[in-house]
Amino acid sequence: MAVILPIIQFEDKIIEIVEQNSIVVVIGETGSGKSTQLSQILHRRGYTKSGIIAVTQPRRVAAVSVSRRVAQELGVRLGEEVGYAIRFEDRTSEKTCIKYLTDGVLLRESLSNPELNQYSVIILDEAHERSLNTDILLGLMKRLVKLRTSNLKVLITSATLDGGKVSRFFSNCPVLTVPGKLFPVEILYSSERPTSYLESALKASLDIHIREPAGDILIFMTGQDDIEKLVSKLEDGVQSLEEGSCMDAIILPLHGSLPPEMQANIEIRVFSPAPPNCRRFIVATNIAETSLTVDGVVYVIDSGYVKQRQYNPSTGMYSLDIVQISRILFNCYFPDSRVQADQRAGRAGRTCPGKCYRLYPSIFYREEFSDVTVPEIQRSSLAGSVLYLKSLDVPDIDILKFDFLDPPSRESLEDALRQLYLIDAIDENGVITKVGRTMAELPLEPSLSRTLLEANECGCLSQALTVAAMLSAETTLLHTRSKVTEKKRKHPQDLPNGSGWGDHIQLLQIYESWDQVNYDPRWCSDNNLQVRGMLFTKDVRKQLSQIMQKSAKGSMDVQTIIKRKERQKDYKNLRRALSAGYAGQLAERMTHHNGYRTLGFKQQLVQVHPSSVLQADEEDGRFPDYVVYHELISTSRPFMRNVCSVE
Ligand code: ADP
Repeated sequence: MAVILPIIQFEDKIIEIVEQNSIVVVIGETGSGKSTQLSQILHRRGYTKSGIIAVTQPRRVAAVSVSRRVAQELGVRLGEEVGYAIRFEDRTSEKTCIKYLTDGVLLRESLSNPELNQYSVIILDEAHERSLNTDILLGLMKRLVKLRTSNLKVLITSATLDGGKVSRFFSNCPVLTVPGKLFPVEILYSSERPTSYLESALKASLDIHIREPAGDILIFMTGQDDIEKLVSKLEDGVQSLEEGSCMDAIILPLHGSLPPEMQANIEIRVFSPAPPNCRRFIVATNIAETSLTVDGVVYVIDSGYVKQRQYNPSTGMYSLDIVQISRILFNCYFPDSRVQADQRAGRAGRTCPGKCYRLYPSIFYREEFSDVTVPEIQRSSLAGSVLYLKSLDVPDIDILKFDFLDPPSRESLEDALRQLYLIDAIDENGVITKVGRTMAELPLEPSLSRTLLEANECGCLSQALTVAAMLSAETTLLHTRSKVTEKKRKHPQDLPNGSGWGDHIQLLQIYESWDQVNYDPRWCSDNNLQVRGMLFTKDVRKQLSQIMQKSAKGSMDVQTIIKRKERQKDYKNLRRALSAGYAGQLAERMTHHNGYRTLGFKQQLVQVHPSSVLQADEEDGRFPDYVVYHELISTSRPFMRNVCSVE
């Protein structure tokens, strides 16, 4: 039976407001139909006659999933009338009139087409997530609606955002609130913070399964790693329960790094109701907070943890990945917000009264959680964003005065400017250079785009493209990397080991070995590499190479000639290119073991991350004197991740 989503009842009202205003804020409960229906309403009412409707999503998975759903509802093939575009993957065609895309892709499109003339409507969805790119888009939209000669409608949608604040930002634009119905949710707290939230989530899930009536369980974990662990524990746990003591169980992981085929398969099972006498356990990241609405959930288990990266501009360091909520028990904390915790609880009350089990004491919620989530712009390195804004060529954009909904700190903007200066992307007056302009056209972070440009100059573009592609696809290889390192330690002859030069070279050698066997998938499985991840790398590499040919006049003919040169045993040219790209991320070896001191503006003591191939060479005492690193990350100690020796 088709359920009428709340937003549908507001169709006339929405059209009336949109017709009279260029910018409208739409606030609606999660699941009210903002992501899937707004675009269809506007399409029905003629807004695709004058252009495409763009709907941005902060998450790649959501862009793919929601577009698939909308295509299905409209009875068209995905990629035709309804399509999606995410970094390195464009599934749209001439026919596309509703396009779901990540906010990053829309930003990139605006570089080549600053007025975004192909779009009649731009919907910035999930604005409450306050992703870095959505925040920048908010500032740009403000200018664009005034600037554009053809008509543009901008809708900003959110589940929890302070509508008044956004409305004020857009000169008091109207706010339309779509009331949603939520059933009461009983909140149950743990009496104390568990020592292991994984074990505690397992116990709570099995208790519900044994004791509570029918209804699916949604469990919030922090990421792929702990989701996989919990899924496997749940599988064992459910199996060991006495037969007949409870209903059947389906256990489903839901996170942003699922392989596409698996994602499609999981989605079908996540979005269709559980079979009779069967309970679903959906183990998800905060993607299920608002991005993807899972129906049928009656019980929510909230670990209270959130995976968040926090950039500190004064040290240039990202702090630990999984953040705990309490500053009392742990020394460092970036609290989950009450808004997020409430959203999680709300997922239990969509279809009937529900229960939410919080795996932490109520005092934490009251006293330790912040009111709102800190916007990403205030906890990220801004080098990429600042370079992008600089390349827009708009005379009135002064980065330090750019109109942000919540401005980043001056320190963080200055840090970004300094980084860009070190890699020649801007000059001493802060003006973007020719190099910087070309860098901005590449869909990569500044260090990698600068590496590619330098490589193009010194005859090792082909190698650098591989390194950039391998690093860009790293999320899909990540799991494998550690296995590779482990395996390599056991069987050094199996896989290349970076020849002591470091991680970038190892990534290159892995790809080259695969190339030598004609991209044979069996080679990947034999070496514990995900075939799909490697194929993705190959595709990314091809795309990057095409962009380089266009933007930086990277000539493949020249490359063939110089290919011989590239085969230098010591990878000298490639390492030179890496030094240019990572000029702000250099470190010098200290006399003791694996200790290094970062050079430049911020000098601090750091170590080589255990996942690095250089660590595997530790026994040989082969730590190089100077290295560049891809990022600094502070977990138990400050570490350099993805490290490569330079001269
Ligand atoms: P909102 O954006 O307001 O949170 P959505 O438009 O995402 O709401 O969701 C509306 C309904 O569509 C929900 O019941 C949700 O379960 C369903 N839905 C969303 N995406 C999919 C999908 N990919 N497959 C099946 N159902 C989906």
